[in-house]
Amino acid sequence: MQELSHWINGKHVKGTSGRFADVFNPATGEVQARVPLASKAELDAAVADAAKAQVAWGATNPQKRGRVMMAMVGLINRDMEKLAEALSREHGKTIPDAKGDVQRGLEVIEFCINAAQMLKGDFTDSAGPGIDMYSMRQPLGVAAGITPFNFPAMIPLWKMGPALACGNAFILKPSERDPSVPLMLAELFKEAGLPDGVLQVVNGDKESVDAILDNETVQAIGFVGSTPIAEYIYGRGCSNGKRVQCFGGAKNHMIIMPDADLDQAADALIGAGFGAAGERCMAISVAVPVGEATADALIAKLIPRIEKLKVGPYTAGNDIDYGPVVTAAAKANILKLVESGVAQGAKLVVDGRGFKLQGYEDGYFVGPHLFDHVTTDMEIYRKEIFGPVLSCVRAKTYEEAVGYAMDHEYGNGTAIFTRDGDTARDFAARINVGMVGINVPIPVPLAYHTFGGWKKSGFGDLNQHGPDAFRFYTRTKTVTARWPSGIKEGGEFNFKAMD
Ligand code: NAD
Repeated sequence: MQELSHWINGKHVKGTSGRFADVFNPATGEVQARVPLASKAELDAAVADAAKAQVAWGATNPQKRGRVMMAMVGLINRDMEKLAEALSREHGKTIPDAKGDVQRGLEVIEFCINAAQMLKGDFTDSAGPGIDMYSMRQPLGVAAGITPFNFPAMIPLWKMGPALACGNAFILKPSERDPSVPLMLAELFKEAGLPDGVLQVVNGDKESVDAILDNETVQAIGFVGSTPIAEYIYGRGCSNGKRVQCFGGAKNHMIIMPDADLDQAADALIGAGFGAAGERCMAISVAVPVGEATADALIAKLIPRIEKLKVGPYTAGNDIDYGPVVTAAAKANILKLVESGVAQGAKLVVDGRGFKLQGYEDGYFVGPHLFDHVTTDMEIYRKEIFGPVLSCVRAKTYEEAVGYAMDHEYGNGTAIFTRDGDTARDFAARINVGMVGINVPIPVPLAYHTFGGWKKSGFGDLNQHGPDAFRFYTRTKTVTARWPSGIKEGGEFNFKAMD
């Protein structure tokens, strides 16, 4: 069996803690590798080396750091197939989805090529007599990122790119469930010209996360994962005096107005609800049709579309709609929540519970589920299921529909499908959710905007990527400078005045 490593000071390094986690192939249920789980001592040593390497990297001019990003873009494109295959093998998503995962990370690296432009300071000429004032953005030192399993290329790249482009050293603690792609990305950064030690990939679990939280050298932490862990990391990281941003779970509502194009809405719900087996923080998990007629028509359009979905391993080709979920525990949790929905009285109109795939009986495949007549007190409505389960909550009016999305504790993404500009505008203005789609089901902002949810989906002031990332990974210093003037009236230079 393959034994994975850490990436320390520019090379693969075996773990010394003696602790490991199994890495599964979710399509077959087989253990395909094991990943070392770092001890506090291993983490602290990686941080200490990173701090030494950061001094020269932080002093490297931003344009040169941008060139490393430029080289990285070429290398990721060169290795796209290899990265996607490794990603699908550990995560389970289809190859097109895996390429999308890499691509959305790559776009942030493209944005980071512009480091020099993003880090340019402000300057005020003659803020007072002979006084200039200027501000600069300086790196923090060592920053760290803790990332989830569901986007093992995109989210590590969202963290590594901006942190490094800003001149920091970076410690990445990827998900222990699919650690291979982050390690491959670290190799590519070295090939792109990143000096050794500036990027360390330390594999691990709670022990290494706690070591990051308590390490005095680590200045900032970017976390993405489930809300309970986000709250824990935000609390402990902030109380240790670090700059922390944490992005948590989601329950994204899509409102379907009576005037919407229902075929378009149904197609959108299939992709956004079931794509990547629902394991996306921007997945739509709640459809809110407005009016009984809209709801009946929408359900009638969804059922045949869902029944046509092809579920299978990524090796079965590109016409597979989605693959297995990530672990046996994830599958068990999804099916438990489905049972709770049935027990609490929701109508299971597409029942995926008996789903089996011949030849892959030990894989973590979950059939698609559609619940109708879901109410807000049900567990399937309140909890993030993170699986191929779509819930339909019927609303009588637009106000009632908006209220559901407003009142839910999560606020990551949301969408409205309508032909009416006034309604769409009102929705976008009023909704207390971070990312809003208008006739767009998964409104993931592009690299030059920022990504982040509200309420229990996001903790901290600044979002991921875009201009916010350059603010998060730097601190501002403002200089006020006065130079005694040696110029006399009439232009003659008075050296005495300079004494
Ligand atoms: P997770 O919270 O289980 O794990 C995330 C990271 O935290 C991993 O690196 C893991 O090793 C670490 N971790 C887990 N338990 C820990 C503990 N007790 N103490 C310290 N560290 C711990 O999340 P996941 O299952 O990997 O990812 C899925 C979740 O991530 C979903 O809730 C999803 O909505 C969320 N997510 C959010 C966004 C966003 O931008 N808001 C994006 C992607 C995923």
